[in-house]
Amino acid sequence: MWTGDEPHISSKTGFSMSITPAVINIPATARSAERARLETNKLAKRLRRDVGQAIGDFNMISNGDKVMVCLSGGKDSYGLLDILLHLRAHAPIEFDIVAVNLDQKQPGFPADVLPNYLEALGVPYHIETQDTYSIVKRVVPEGKTTCGLCSRLRRGILYRVADELGATKIALGHHRDDILQTLFLNMFFGSKLKAMPPKLVSDDGKHVVIRPLAYCQEDDLAAWAEHKQFPIIPCNLCGSQENLQRQNIKAMLQDWDKRFPGRIKNLFRSLGNIVPSHMMDRELFDFANLEATGVADPEGDTAFDALEFPKEAAAVEWL
Ligand code: SF4
Repeated sequence: MWTGDEPHISSKTGFSMSITPAVINIPATARSAERARLETNKLAKRLRRDVGQAIGDFNMISNGDKVMVCLSGGKDSYGLLDILLHLRAHAPIEFDIVAVNLDQKQPGFPADVLPNYLEALGVPYHIETQDTYSIVKRVVPEGKTTCGLCSRLRRGILYRVADELGATKIALGHHRDDILQTLFLNMFFGSKLKAMPPKLVSDDGKHVVIRPLAYCQEDDLAAWAEHKQFPIIPCNLCGSQENLQRQNIKAMLQDWDKRFPGRIKNLFRSLGNIVPSHMMDRELFDFANLEATGVADPEGDTAFDALEFPKEAAAVEWL
């Protein structure tokens, strides 16, 4: 007698199927394909939710905006364009998108990749060709890092292009992990508590720069790029030893998060949860004129209380 627990081989397909009264098991390949499909759906939802949330929290895009999406050919900027296009199709407001790539004439830059991709997508785009590579190589002494001058030149060009295109917002593809790395770079090497804002006014005072991926995890963007098979252009064409320290900080953060899961999330949330009266910046808080008010404040000082952290915090080593 068949009890329903033994494997059952279909005489027609030859697939092994174990059938229980309540569950019909499907073949392993179909099961893993279904699991992959569900994971991809979750990933898409998470990325779109994160971007929508960041746009809403910081009022990044308004009705009638023309958003210039800066495309480098890296996974993050492809992801940014892809997600913004999706959100635009479903948003309750109207805004335009124009993709812009700056071809800096780095040796080996495959100039046809982005135009081909954007043509196929049907997105309005502009490729700006400016040989900043030669300028940087000529001006910066051999052995010195070229990134500072290169980024300054790139920034100026992108602002001009935004003017020419009538763009009201300039969208960059920096994500949560870029923001945290910048925080630590500034602390370690600049003695500043400063990260990378999700929204800012450009240094010429004329443009609003937005970072809609501010809440997105880099791992999610990498997985999305893999899923969408974006035609990635390598980011090391200039040959610069770009951001060796950034790489070190990235490794430090990844190591922390592996050993103490949730640390990156907490660090990131702390950026939106600052208490100036409990820092030491005299410009942000008027310590000099601080006096007793005589009014109780439940949110006030806890000078004599033990700091309270979650229980698990007591059990971990810190570095
Ligand atoms: S890595 Fe190369 S392209 Fe990127 S900022 Fe540095 S010099 Fe410029």
